[in-house]
Amino acid sequence: MNIPFNKPYITGNELDYIKDAVFRGKISGNGYYTQKCHEFFQQRYRFKKCLLTTSCTDALEMAALLCDIQPGDEVIVPSYTFVSTANAFVLRGAKIVFADSKTDHPGIDESKIEQLITSRTKVIVPVHYAGVACNMDVIMDIANRYNLFVVEDAAQAIDSYYNGKPLGGIGHFGCFSFHETKNIQCGEGGMLVINDDRFLKRAEIIWEKGTNRAEFFRGEVNKYGWVDIGSSFLPSEVTAAFLYAQLENVDSIQFKRKKIWDHYYAKLKSIADKSSFRLPIIQDYTTNNGHMFYLLCNSGKTRSELIGYLKQNGIWAVFHYLSLHKSPYYSDKHNGRKLPESDRYSNCLVRLPLFYDLSTGDISYITQAINSFDFIG
Ligand SMILES: *Cc1c(COP(=O)(O)O)cnc(C)c1O
Repeated sequence: MNIPFNKPYITGNELDYIKDAVFRGKISGNGYYTQKCHEFFQQRYRFKKCLLTTSCTDALEMAALLCDIQPGDEVIVPSYTFVSTANAFVLRGAKIVFADSKTDHPGIDESKIEQLITSRTKVIVPVHYAGVACNMDVIMDIANRYNLFVVEDAAQAIDSYYNGKPLGGIGHFGCFSFHETKNIQCGEGGMLVINDDRFLKRAEIIWEKGTNRAEFFRGEVNKYGWVDIGSSFLPSEVTAAFLYAQLENVDSIQFKRKKIWDHYYAKLKSIADKSSFRLPIIQDYTTNNGHMFYLLCNSGKTRSELIGYLKQNGIWAVFHYLSLHKSPYYSDKHNGRKLPESDRYSNCLVRLPLFYDLSTGDISYITQAINSFDFIG
């Protein structure tokens, strides 16, 4: 038996659309398929404006530019996240103020944000871990009271909702990833969602290397030039064509992933009750988009042993983030505040294989292996 942790799903139309993109004769960015992807998101989720990027990392960097981060500005980021969530702002000279996770979920603890705010605070970055929403009403209320921007790291959160509102569409900006480990993928890819009218024009300029070329292509100006800072954030049409083939299948992909998630949950519920591990908790205010299935062991030692035991059985389960406040790059810049929940997820969380082609038989095999593992010993 060999069950990988992830296996990217291919819908079948990717190569046809890439071929079509090539024969359309415009292979650089912002062509036919890029527009199709933008329209898909703007129609399905009523996002105000979408711009495809080459990664979620790029979308976060664009958001940092649009927030006009200056050296010394402070940005509140959960410690339990991917490096890009913080790095995008560090590149602009920001000081990262790390926040702890919730006791019942790895997402940022909204009740601990307000105490971190100073006169230099400019942005809060909630990360919707596992596609499960942060408590956005509380976060938006804090942001409004202190006049802060909210950049949602929705890298894992496609097609997931907070109280009926699509994630990525609530804060000032939303950032998505289409990396091959995400639900909808194109190898490497991402998207910035702009939800605030004030930033629509500048976002397009930063996206197009600091030029007003997008306006020029729409015939709104008769020449284009260098008008602001920017960089090369557009993916090529080859990437957008691949992505569009995936987007057309979003409903079947989501249906399948949620079914796998539910299947895991049903099988592991009774085992969790008699063992010393915990299953994910999903609050009423959020949907679950089937991005990830994880368990929480009661110690780092048990977690390592479980991963080793599953590997012996041909199952590739993996741990996840290491607290960023303890990272080699940031530990000496962190103010020493303890973030025990983030550390607990760093030490105790195990992710199980979850991908479109994971079969019912695979899930039974994995849950049986977990059942035969000695959690106490
Ligand atoms: C995957 C991921 C990213 C980075 O996405 P890329 O598209 O690989 O740049 C950022 N944040 C979170 C929470 C992620 O899961």
